[in-house]
Amino acid sequence: IPASSLSCYQIVFGENHWQKTVKDFVSRKSYSHAFVLTDEQVYRLWKKEINFFSRDVIVIPAGESSKTIEQAVKVTEKLLELGGDRKSVLIAMGGGVVGDLGGFVASMYMRGIDFIQIPTTVLAMVDSSIGGKTGVDTSRGKNLIGAFHFPSLVVTDTAFLRTLPEEQKRNGLVEMVKHALIADVSYYDLLVHSDWENMDWSTLLWKSCFIKASVVAKDPREQNLRQILNFGHTLGHAIEHVLAYELLHGFAVAWGMLGEVYISMQMGLLKPSIVENIANDFRRLNILQKPNLIRTIDWKDLEKPLLADKKNTLGQVKMVLLQRPGEVAKNKGAYSFPVQGNLIQKAVEY
Ligand code: NAD
Ligand code: ZN
Repeated sequence: IPASSLSCYQIVFGENHWQKTVKDFVSRKSYSHAFVLTDEQVYRLWKKEINFFSRDVIVIPAGESSKTIEQAVKVTEKLLELGGDRKSVLIAMGGGVVGDLGGFVASMYMRGIDFIQIPTTVLAMVDSSIGGKTGVDTSRGKNLIGAFHFPSLVVTDTAFLRTLPEEQKRNGLVEMVKHALIADVSYYDLLVHSDWENMDWSTLLWKSCFIKASVVAKDPREQNLRQILNFGHTLGHAIEHVLAYELLHGFAVAWGMLGEVYISMQMGLLKPSIVENIANDFRRLNILQKPNLIRTIDWKDLEKPLLADKKNTLGQVKMVLLQRPGEVAKNKGAYSFPVQGNLIQKAVEY
């Protein structure tokens, strides 16, 4: 991420390099302690390597239910018990849950210590490990407590994909498709024509990280450009909400992107033939999951979460729309458009 941003740090890519890369960094920085935070699932699968790397390991239960203020307090107390001080570094090794929680703890532990991200899911590699957003959920919603706290280093190692279930890989793939659709048509073509069995993950992950990092560097606090990363998410979050999180986030966003592509066409921004092409691409990538469940959604059910999300009237729900694959539409210098309720209804019925 360039120095123009709030923070300047490296994202180091490779296969089977995380131990050496992190060790070198930790000794260069002369940290007093290096603590590893991970979840039970990652620890079970990577125990030998993790134990060889460090004796100071904190393990939390796997899953979104660990992203709470109570869990953050538990990790904080564990750090204190293990002798953590201001010169300690926290290494968050896991998916987005461990990264968001670990980053949040690092942001407040003794008013802030360094942290290193080792993302182990595709979603964490291309999305949550980049951009400095950290936080926890509350009973009233996701990510409602948090801080911007940029990592000192991100270490992306494709070795972790060996143990990641296919469903989790496709879940992360959706965010990669999003990056391609909003910023780079040649990357989009490369992605949709990739053969799942022989995916060139390192090239594709790198391209996605480059797009996300470039956008974040230009607008770290989400005042304008960073909003384009919300493509597919206005509808996607509402779908996730009405289905009570029965679909993984990525799959809800895939349907959300398709809906927002359709709305882009309805608003005269995108050519009609492109909508069908994108729907076919999504089917080929196998990211349009549980269509029967999606068909059960009545568009009226989406109204409440859409309004809650945007604090707006129905004629004023704002969405990022596409001009063409690889380029978002601009609305007088802004990147989102007010969308009428009837267009959302048509998109859901489509
Ligand atoms: P996750 O962290 O829950 O990981 C998904 C599952 O995969 C977990 O059960 C985990 O134990 C397991 N797992 C992780 N790595 C594995 C590996 N290599 N092999 C086998 N299993 C492995 O979920 P996620 O999808 O990675 O992240 C979702 C979270 O990220 C959400 O809380 C979301 O809010 C957050 N997020 C944050 C940002 C941000 O900018 N900070 C962006 C997007 C998402
Ligand atoms: Zn997302």
